[in-house]
Amino acid sequence: MNSPYAPSNGQSQQPRLLVIDDEAEIANLVASVAQMVGFAATALTDSREFEKAYEHDGFDTIVLDLVMPERDGIEILRQLASLHSRSRIILMSGFDGATLYTANQLASAHGLDIVCSISKPFRISELKLILDKLQQQNTSFSHGPSIPSRLISPSELNYAIKRGDFCYYYQPQIELGNRRVIGFEALMRWKQADGSMVSPANFIPVAEISGQIGELTWTTLERSLLDFKTLDWLAPGCTLSVNLSPDQLSDLSLPDNLSSLVRQFYIDPQRIVIEITESGILRDLTVALDILTRLRLKGFGMSIDDFGTGSATLQQLRQLPITELKIDQSFVADLTRGQKDRIIVESTIVLAQKLGLRTVAEGIEFSETAELLKSLGVDIGQGFALGKPMSIENLGSIIT
Ligand code: C2E
Ligand code: CA
Ligand code: CA
Repeated sequence: MNSPYAPSNGQSQQPRLLVIDDEAEIANLVASVAQMVGFAATALTDSREFEKAYEHDGFDTIVLDLVMPERDGIEILRQLASLHSRSRIILMSGFDGATLYTANQLASAHGLDIVCSISKPFRISELKLILDKLQQQNTSFSHGPSIPSRLISPSELNYAIKRGDFCYYYQPQIELGNRRVIGFEALMRWKQADGSMVSPANFIPVAEISGQIGELTWTTLERSLLDFKTLDWLAPGCTLSVNLSPDQLSDLSLPDNLSSLVRQFYIDPQRIVIEITESGILRDLTVALDILTRLRLKGFGMSIDDFGTGSATLQQLRQLPITELKIDQSFVADLTRGQKDRIIVESTIVLAQKLGLRTVAEGIEFSETAELLKSLGVDIGQGFALGKPMSIENLGSIIT
């Protein structure tokens, strides 16, 4: 190993990071930033030594330069794929075009976990933010960010936020008893120059990792509150559900900021439902409780999204000031066929009723599923069978 940063032994409790770059200055710089945020970092300048290093230590995170003389980053990615690597990978490149594209295609095809790419030259603050985030997420290593189908770098995202390229699509929520539209969920989209839309699964993880989720949410939310007038005209008295990232549940100023933003638009907070996941709440339960309680006191509705996929205990749930449980789509998809899914849905309904919460089932793709959910006692349904997420312009033509 040619590095002063190699961990002293293979048993280190710290998460391990490997940086591979033929330019020693850059490799060492990345390694020292990684050490600063709590990684045990190893710098490698000769990519031919990769296997030896990888086999010896395994690594939680790999920062990989794509352009290297002996053995380039694409070859290393192929190697990682053949090793069935579960490391999180950050790509570095001075090129934005073909090389990054090939790297991403290859990585996606092999199920590698590409977190994001960093263009050279990069700012140390940008790198530090990303590594810091990964270091914090290390405990939830196995559910790291999903692989984007198109590689998005934090700086590309930043330009797009500044340009205001994001908007929401709105998916109707239907009262199953009478088929009335009683609300909408706002789902973010990234508008491309050719008019196509990028899915949030591709850019939300990058926004979270690079510390931009707050800015992205605030700027987009503001414009969607303008849409609320149209939504209310389409379905008078409706609610609007918005998703918040787990990271935003550590911002103690959130309740005040959200409340004053909503009031600026003369919207009653009771008409806004905040969706959060169990993992978001459990990250720091005390802080999350503080924030959620204050949001609730200000009148906002509070929903547990993807309910049933997290690990909140009943005791923790009981403490939360929530108004709604949103049954995860994985239990809804095969509900008419799966006996186990049915048991989970039934017990969630009983739990919600006992706690005085309303239930929403998402991912309803067939009308038989909607009928079954209704007979089981679910209050509200959401899914392709009842209405797809749509732009505000298209929504008008469907609902009226
Ligand atoms: P989610 O909050 O669980 O949203 C539901 C997802 O299921 C949406 O995907 C929606 O389009 C999709 N969906 C709705 N009905 C059906 C159906 O019948 N079948 C199937 N297969 N899918 C259905 P989408 O819009 O791609 O959003 C994915 C995720 O991205 C969301 O999952 C949410 O976690 C996140 N997200 C979306 N917008 C935002 C946002 O503004 N902020 C944050 N932090 N996350 C967001
Ligand atoms: Ca949601
Ligand atoms: Ca969900």
